[in-house]
Amino acid sequence: MRFELMRPHQIRDAIARNLPVLLPLGVMEYHGEHMGVGMDLLAVTRVLDRLEREAEVVILPPFAYGAASYAVEGPEGTGTLHVDAGRIAPFAEGMFEGLLRIGFRNIHAVIHHQTENFAAGMPTDLAFRFAGRQAVFRILERDRGEGWWGRAEMRDYYAQHDAGTDPFNWIRVHPLMSAAVTPAYPFDHAGIGETSLMLALAPEVVEMDRVSENGGWYTDGAASASAELGERGVSLILGHLREALGL
Ligand SMILES: [Zn+2]
Repeated sequence: MRFELMRPHQIRDAIARNLPVLLPLGVMEYHGEHMGVGMDLLAVTRVLDRLEREAEVVILPPFAYGAASYAVEGPEGTGTLHVDAGRIAPFAEGMFEGLLRIGFRNIHAVIHHQTENFAAGMPTDLAFRFAGRQAVFRILERDRGEGWWGRAEMRDYYAQHDAGTDPFNWIRVHPLMSAAVTPAYPFDHAGIGETSLMLALAPEVVEMDRVSENGGWYTDGAASASAELGERGVSLILGHLREALGL
């Protein structure tokens, strides 16, 4: 289900059934001469298109303007569109707070950009993770009042925590490719891994005859990319997401 298409009775039903509400996160970033700048976003949105065919989920309109950084290339004529994470965090906090106000308590952002060391984090995912925590604290204090954690009814907090049902699970941020996926599939930037993913998910944004125009070291493996390899990655990713979302 697409959030923007839902009628209020469907939204109330999704809340009552605690369906996963998915927020695709992405950036616009140079991915070599052969690939579209939306690769990191498209990897998420196209995988979620597939997930939607097999599972009941609510998919929010994507957020496409993350902190790409100019690490790979500067912006002039390359398409890299960088917005500083410090500016994103207040927006993200407001958006999460709004989603909690609607009543959603099973919100999951999914991101592919710079997620090779997700435990430590990178600016875009950290901005959304920080924002999610802030929004949860604010809503809890608004609805339950200060001192909510210390009250008797929260005596089972650590059991909730172990079960993954405590309020800090209302908003979570996941890498598209988890630590379970990356040993089995190449994680790279515009190399064989990402190019193959796009050949499988969005072939219209790949021009394989332009791979030879690339100068960056990171695209070295791109010429060996294939839709077949990409499909292997997609099925690994879908397995990881089913588990992360409890589907
Ligand atoms: Zn990428």
